[in-house]
Amino acid sequence: MVSIPACFSETYAEARAKFCRAAAEAGGSIRSWFNPNAPGPDGERLYLDTARFGPADAENVLVLISSTHGVEGHCGSGAQIAWLTTGGPGTLPKDTGALIVHAINPYGFAWTRRVNEDNVDLNRNFVDHDKAYPRNEGYLAIAEAVLPQDWSDESKAETQRMFDSYAQKHGAFALQGAISGGQYTHPDGIFFGGAKATWSNRTIRQIAREELGRARRVAVIDFHTGLGPFGHGELICAVPPSSKSFPRARAWYGDELTSPEGGTSTSAIVVGIMTDAFPQELPDAEVTPVAIEYGTYSVPEVLGAVRADNWLHHRGDLNSALAREIKADMKERFFPAGDKWREMVWSRADQTIGWALKGLAGR
Ligand SMILES: [Zn+2]
Repeated sequence: MVSIPACFSETYAEARAKFCRAAAEAGGSIRSWFNPNAPGPDGERLYLDTARFGPADAENVLVLISSTHGVEGHCGSGAQIAWLTTGGPGTLPKDTGALIVHAINPYGFAWTRRVNEDNVDLNRNFVDHDKAYPRNEGYLAIAEAVLPQDWSDESKAETQRMFDSYAQKHGAFALQGAISGGQYTHPDGIFFGGAKATWSNRTIRQIAREELGRARRVAVIDFHTGLGPFGHGELICAVPPSSKSFPRARAWYGDELTSPEGGTSTSAIVVGIMTDAFPQELPDAEVTPVAIEYGTYSVPEVLGAVRADNWLHHRGDLNSALAREIKADMKERFFPAGDKWREMVWSRADQTIGWALKGLAGR
């Protein structure tokens, strides 16, 4: 009997070892991609690992991705390992393969951050960097409050005053959009989309071309945490409702599939998300991308943790007691302790993977 909570890990290193072992035991072929840009907090080398199952020329491929937002990889990695250890690969139909992408953002996972080694939010980085970036006027208005000089009760109260006055004028969801919708003007801010394609961006595109070039139908499930009710997995389809893959995703996953652009999601509208790489790199395949967003704590608690972590890496001391406090809070906000949340994560992931496989099979 597999212990589901034991599939989840407390550190990136533990997760990586568990993933590679589970993938090997399940008969997967493993490839490792070294991130040359930054080591982990203990000086360790950081890798994105992939495990491939099924025939190399499989028409249909299920793709599970963890750690787009670094620290959220505790969740996605656990779900991937649960799929491997509960016999997931054995349930794949003959013409169907699986590509499990573990720790697409290994830096963020290892350092307990949402962002990558460039302080970039990967899910805002997949825009066309040769074109003008989307503007986020709201962020310009609050940027100073996002990154105060010091982290004190006074600075926190001042930030709260600025946020409250923004929310009074524009509404609470508009404040969430201003903060989290993505911005390209403040490299030291939060939800920064970057000024070029990151290592993870370039690497996942190469992986898509090399591993999925022969696939006809590709189902991508990207694991996230931090928005929504505790333990609930919201299925989000972040492509515009007018795009070809949206009605297909609706048919596969049902009417509860939400759309940021359609106004039905807990997520702000964002552009340049990671899963956009798949239809771009696989123009001849039918790609159906969704994200599972697991709820943890309230939006102010989650965004507060993200701001504290951003302040710590730009203006704080990583070896201080405050740093340990901020990192512990960051981890809890994106990966709640205890078995219940992890069991909820897996049951929803299991159900969603089942729907994806039915969808791929045209059933
Ligand atoms: Zn996320």
